[in-house]
Amino acid sequence: MSASRLLFFCFISLVTTQLRAEPTIASQDPEKVSRNAPAESSITFSSVHVDGPYIAMTFDDGPSATLTPKLLDILAAHRIKATFFVIGENVVQHPEVVARAAREGHEIGNHSWSHPNFGKMSDDGVRGQLQRTDEAIKGATGARPTLLRPPYGSITARQKRWIHDQFGYQVILWDVDPYDWKRPGPPVVRNRILKETQPGSIVLSHDIHPGTIEAMPSTFDALAAKGFRFVTVSELIHMAVPEPSSPSPSPRTHGSVPATITPLPSASAVPSPSG
Ligand SMILES: [Zn+2]
Repeated sequence: MSASRLLFFCFISLVTTQLRAEPTIASQDPEKVSRNAPAESSITFSSVHVDGPYIAMTFDDGPSATLTPKLLDILAAHRIKATFFVIGENVVQHPEVVARAAREGHEIGNHSWSHPNFGKMSDDGVRGQLQRTDEAIKGATGARPTLLRPPYGSITARQKRWIHDQFGYQVILWDVDPYDWKRPGPPVVRNRILKETQPGSIVLSHDIHPGTIEAMPSTFDALAAKGFRFVTVSELIHMAVPEPSSPSPSPRTHGSVPATITPLPSASAVPSPSG
């Protein structure tokens, strides 16, 4: 082979490698995304497709020294199990309240240490928030949480993946939001919950607002009268049944409310004043 021919072959193979390199990298990404898509949908829940009238009541931002025990009394009187997404700072101030909730059969989830917006934070910052709260919950209840509700529902797809890998958490959002943090009054809180709740719903409220606690006895009664049964979030997830295949790939909706394993956009977090 002549030197010029050799040079020509080198040139051609270099060009081919370069040409191949681009599409190879480009085609890996969508593949990776589609491989991760099922994993993501099993990590994140805003509601659960269940075969029965089951719902999960969730209470965020506590524990409160006074209001959470009141709510625990109400839950006990109604024989209802709920899920508490607690703030680490509050857990270390009132560990006995969290211990009582766990002892009485309620589920405890991680809601960060000090309620920052994860979508705007470094991985190290988020990791610290989760780790400290994880340890505070373990200290109070003896068990590590398996659920995370990011403050404001704000979390990126990338964060969800590494948090799931490192902490094993499922990310729990909601499909029913009574905006109780705006303190609209107990009847409004109750009516909003009654209007929006469907089988498989995850209902968001906060056990740090007196009006929310005041709304709960009649809310529980009315939901029970409609036939709903109350379970913890993990119990609800364990009841998940596959959705009937539909010709449309769009996610199931609860009326006008987007629901069921709603993946959030990967590029940005979706902050919400609630949560
Ligand atoms: Zn919150």
